[in-house]
Amino acid sequence: MKPPPFDYRRCTSLEEALALLAQHGAEAKLLAGGQSLMPMLNFRLLRPALLVDIGRIGALDGITEDAAGLTIGALTRHRVLEGDARIATHFPMLAEAMAHVAHLAVRNRGTLGGSLSHADPAAELPMMTLLLNATLRLERQGGRREIPAAEFFLGSLTTALDPDEMLTAIHLPFLPSGAGWGFAETAPRAGDFATAAAACVLTRQGGAVTMARIAVMGVHETALRLHAAEEALLGQGPAAFANAARLAREAVEPSSDLRASADLRRHLVEVQVGRVLAAAWERAA
Ligand SMILES: Cc1cc2nc3c(=O)[nH]c(=O)nc-3n(C[C@H](O)[C@H](O)[C@H](O)COP(=O)(O)OP(=O)(O)OC[C@H]3O[C@@H](n4cnc5c(N)ncnc54)[C@H](O)[C@@H]3O)c2cc1C
Repeated sequence: MKPPPFDYRRCTSLEEALALLAQHGAEAKLLAGGQSLMPMLNFRLLRPALLVDIGRIGALDGITEDAAGLTIGALTRHRVLEGDARIATHFPMLAEAMAHVAHLAVRNRGTLGGSLSHADPAAELPMMTLLLNATLRLERQGGRREIPAAEFFLGSLTTALDPDEMLTAIHLPFLPSGAGWGFAETAPRAGDFATAAAACVLTRQGGAVTMARIAVMGVHETALRLHAAEEALLGQGPAAFANAARLAREAVEPSSDLRASADLRRHLVEVQVGRVLAAAWERAA
């Protein structure tokens, strides 16, 4: 299929792009990697009057490190997140997750900001930003706000972005030293969107969990943090993992589709959460 007609502007600066958003509001759509937007246009699910191409705004691309964590520009490609040495050192679970996003051709084009703004409930990056307590920077002409990832994803393909706002960067705070992690994903074939996935980080002291974060995706309207399961782990050892996995299963509200029933997805959540907790426990120093 072919997209409906639209005007096109390629921007070379953030200011230019924000000015166009301020002028055109909901009539405009940002074009980053195009890997989700172009299919939406081709299927006529969107009919923007104007595409604002931000793909060449260099200021939005790249990773910087400070004492508190990593700041990652919205235009940073999936492939960069998969291979960057700082990500591998500080957030290896993110590199692992990126290897599950589509195929190399898509990862070469798709961007962090595009994936988060598209907010597919079965996408890896929303889940990872929830897991890693990311802060998202949203900018509009003459203004900027920073919100936690937990307040950004409002529903399937729905975020807290206003029509004149752009996601320009995220900040990932460093994890406590010695944190272990786990990641598990089930998909029909390698590179397909996930049927279900889970990830966790935890710290331990001796035989007890001192901090736990668990996130899942593909099994709810949005990616989701599982706070009840996390709290049930505090002060406990591996004997508590089965109960946490059961609480995880109870917290999600999956839907059925051609690929999997809601029951299968609940089952996957329980199995995956048990596995990622065991992996994180082993990795935790
Ligand atoms: C065959 C195929 C398989 C895929 N498989 C997976 C998968 O397994 N897992 C997965 O997570 N993803 C998958 N994707 C999606 C891919 O990761 C996309 O790249 C990503 O979802 C969107 O990123 P993009 O840069 O291409 O965004 P675009 O397609 O350019 O934009 C997507 C949406 O976000 C908006 N937008 C873009 N950037 C910004 C910004 N900075 N601020 C505000 N709004 C913005 C756009 O206006 C648009 O509405 C797949 C895509 C394809 C084509």
